[in-house]
Amino acid sequence: MRTPRRQTVTTWVGRIPVGSAHPIVVQSMTNTDTADAEATAIQVAQLARAGSEIVRVTVNTREAAAAIPEIVARLHEVGIDVPIVGDFHYNGHILLAEFPETARLLAKYRINPGNVGAGQHHDANFATMIEVAKQYGKPVRIGVNWGSLDQQVLARLMDENAAAGNPKSTTDVTIDAMVTSALESARYAERLGLPHDKIIISVKVSAAPELWQVYRQLAPLCDYPLHLGLTEAGIGMKGMVASSVALAPLLTEGIGDTIRVSLTPEPGAPRKLEVEVAQQILQSLGLRQFLPQVTSCPGCGRTTSTFFQHLAGQIQDYIRDSMPEWKVKYPGVEEMQVAVMGCVVNGPGESKHANIGISLPGTGEDPRAPVYQDGKLLTTLKGPRIVEDFQALLDRYVEERYGQETVQG
Ligand code: SF4
Repeated sequence: MRTPRRQTVTTWVGRIPVGSAHPIVVQSMTNTDTADAEATAIQVAQLARAGSEIVRVTVNTREAAAAIPEIVARLHEVGIDVPIVGDFHYNGHILLAEFPETARLLAKYRINPGNVGAGQHHDANFATMIEVAKQYGKPVRIGVNWGSLDQQVLARLMDENAAAGNPKSTTDVTIDAMVTSALESARYAERLGLPHDKIIISVKVSAAPELWQVYRQLAPLCDYPLHLGLTEAGIGMKGMVASSVALAPLLTEGIGDTIRVSLTPEPGAPRKLEVEVAQQILQSLGLRQFLPQVTSCPGCGRTTSTFFQHLAGQIQDYIRDSMPEWKVKYPGVEEMQVAVMGCVVNGPGESKHANIGISLPGTGEDPRAPVYQDGKLLTTLKGPRIVEDFQALLDRYVEERYGQETVQG
């Protein structure tokens, strides 16, 4: 059972609202050299088209800061107005002050309190970034990371812990320090005049149990929207599983208003995979619907051919590829359930529960594929064009069911 969302204020990141009154936002980050405006704009566009509602880019050098206006202009040329967030470390106070057009165009500034300078410079640099945020009416993300934790806060809490009668473990003190650093920074930003609803917080670690601990500790202490994610999820399947395991319990408890899946891409894999994984996590938890859900059985000894696997994959790809057009023409189509099953054991039953479903012939079964629509047998496909025939039925169903809603609604 899911717990209702933790109540937060709403923080607007460009045109995207982030907070408990709004759907959980999917965001992503580029891995291009931001100074290469063309490559970065192309990747931002790919991420946005895949469904990323906010895209972050690193702003680490003067060249990167100078490229932001061109990146935004290139995106507008192709009709994309996704909010762009600037990720700043060490020199954000310099870059934001030196590049006012960049400061104006970015939709949010990410500030890592552990990376804004040490000693007396820490507060001054932080204050400079907050002043720029105030000047342009921008929100900030106070983004604390386990690996770059503010050492002054950590040392202070370590000392207090050492003096305590019953000292905590180093992990527990580090988590205390992350929460303290985030909240002290947020409150300092407010004392500097940044409105309460211009702050989002994240406290990222790289392992699920610590992520649960730190967010459960932070969540009841404030009503800022929270950005969830593992700081380094890992590569490929490991990263996808780690992110799902880490995020699911917190999201189920109502914690988290925007998520990012920090996948290390496998060589040649598209960056947009992190967006698709984030969407799938939210969809699997029933928190958002992004595209029709395809239910396919795992196959077993009853399906000795690979035809069934190909069909399941082709249908999934066909739906994903059709969604940009379907979303516009057929509102509500993302709620559709499609079943692609391997044989008659569970096939017809599962197909009847879907909006539309196909049950392929298993080994030794009659080479026919019954198709169920809204719980009733619609037709039985056979022959070499089962995939194309099923896609045509899918198209017709989408048009009739969701096109009709458009006319009525
Ligand atoms: S539906 Fe049929 S093919 Fe699929 S897993 Fe079950 S028994 Fe095997």
